[in-house]
Order: sequence, then C-alpha cells, then structure tokens
Amino acid sequence: MMAGDPGRISNVDWHAVVKKDRHYDGKFVYAAVTTGIYCRPSCPARNPQRRNALIFLTAAEAERRGYAACLRCYPNSLTPAEKSIKAALEYIEAHLDQTTTLNTLSQVSRLSPHHLQETFKRIVGLSPKAFCDARRIARFKQYVRAGQSISSACYEVGYGSIRALYEKTRKGLGMTPAVYRHGGKGIHACYAITDSLLGSVLVAGTEQGLCAVLLGEDEKVLLRELRKEFPDAILKQESFAKWEAAILSCQDEDPLLSKLPESLRGRVFQLEFGTRSSSSLRQGLRFMQLDSRRILHFPK
Ligand SMILES: [Zn+2]
Repeated sequence: MMAGDPGRISNVDWHAVVKKDRHYDGKFVYAAVTTGIYCRPSCPARNPQRRNALIFLTAAEAERRGYAACLRCYPNSLTPAEKSIKAALEYIEAHLDQTTTLNTLSQVSRLSPHHLQETFKRIVGLSPKAFCDARRIARFKQYVRAGQSISSACYEVGYGSIRALYEKTRKGLGMTPAVYRHGGKGIHACYAITDSLLGSVLVAGTEQGLCAVLLGEDEKVLLRELRKEFPDAILKQESFAKWEAAILSCQDEDPLLSKLPESLRGRVFQLEFGTRSSSSLRQGLRFMQLDSRRILHFPK
C-alpha cells in the first residue's frame, strides 16, 4: 500500500489489532494481503505484519476487494457464541409468562448451563435470571398502562401470586405496583435528560429506585411520555451530572450486543439501566456507547 492510502491502518487501529481488543470489533475489519483473509480486530489468529495489513470499515467492503472471511473470528456474521445468546434472548422474550430455567436456556442455546451463564453475562451484561426479571417488570408496566388490573397483569406476566409481584417489583418500579397503577400518585420523582449516542435519554427515579428510563429522539417527547406514565407524581428536574461520570467511565462494554436488532438492544439498555442502582450504572450505560460503534456491516 502507498502511504496515505485510505486502506492503510492507523496507529490506534493497529494497536487494537495487536491487543486483539474486542471493543473494536465492528468498527473495522483488517485484511492480510499475504493470505487474502480478513478478520475482526479481536481475531485470535496470529497478526500479519503491519505493512501487509489493510483496513476496511465493513466486511462487505473487504469482500468486494476479494478478501475472504476468516474462519476463526467470523468477521461477517455472528459467532457461534453470539448466535447462542441471541437464541436465548429470543426464547426468554417469547416465554416471559413461564418459568425459564437455566437448563431450558442451555438447550436452546446449545451451551452448557455454566457456559451459557457466563457468555450471557458477558454479552448482555445481566445474568439470564436478571434479564428475565427485568423484562417481566417491563411487561407488567406495559399491561398496567394499557389498563389491566394489577392482578390480571400479575398473572399474565407470570408472577404467580400478588405477593411474588410485590417482592419482585420492589426494585424495578421505584414504587409499589398499586402506586404505579395510580399514575405514581403522590410520589416524588426526579428526572434528568441527557444526550447519548442512542439519542436522548431520560432517567427518572424515586427514593425507592429508578422508575423510568426512556429513550427517544426528542427531549420534549420524552418528558411528555414521563408525564403520561406518571400523571399524578410530583416531578422535578435535576442535573444529569450524577450520571455523567458513569457514562464516561463506561469503556469496557462488549460490542457484540450491537449486532442484535435495534429494538432488543434498546430494551436491554433500559433493563440494565433500570435494574441497577445509581452507583453501579456503569454497566447499564454500556449500551449508550455501543451505538457509537456503528456496526453496520454485520447481518442481523
Ligand atoms: Zn480472524
């Protein structure tokens, strides 16, 4: 390659390749002119010499130039582990009203229970159980907002008993189910809005915990949504400063999630954010940054 050619690999990108840094997966692929093969930055195979390495923003581009996808790192598709987790996520989503055991997920994903647990956590940022719990709360809220009674929503979502409902939603609602059903009546909630790479984010919390994480294009729309969800709560805006450090410190996210369909990604983000206390928001905020990676070339 000639100096200055756009295909030449920068110092930063080359460093990522040498370090086999997974966080750069999806940002680019690199090809070895000597072998004709292209890889993710994290490929475990031995690196080519830098002077023989070319960079492409997308796998499609590398293929157009005649390079073949590496069989170790799957630069143009999901890896087997990613496929497994995607299957597990889809299964959970479709069976929220039932108890999903680790064994079931293990079968669905074709990973051993232990391996599934670890891989799921690495990719999603939550354990399968925490993911189920959080999705259940989200669906409960959705049903209640649609006008269902607490008990009907409770059973439909699969809590089994009102007692279980109250217990399980203690953290995820920021209030009791009854107060939620009544539009947050009398409750004080603070909210903050910030720009993120996923668009605007509105976070609202009560003394009992976060009660809403809303994503959208427009601040005004988010605020309207919040008011609609909690028409009888006392809402007060506060500065986003306390979340900011969390955003900045969020550097070690796993890039794999960004290959999931956007709707699921946004949902996972909201779950993670919503199920964690403010002191451990770092992981919840991973997903904001994920979007910056602009992984466009991976098939869904
Ligand atoms: Zn490779």
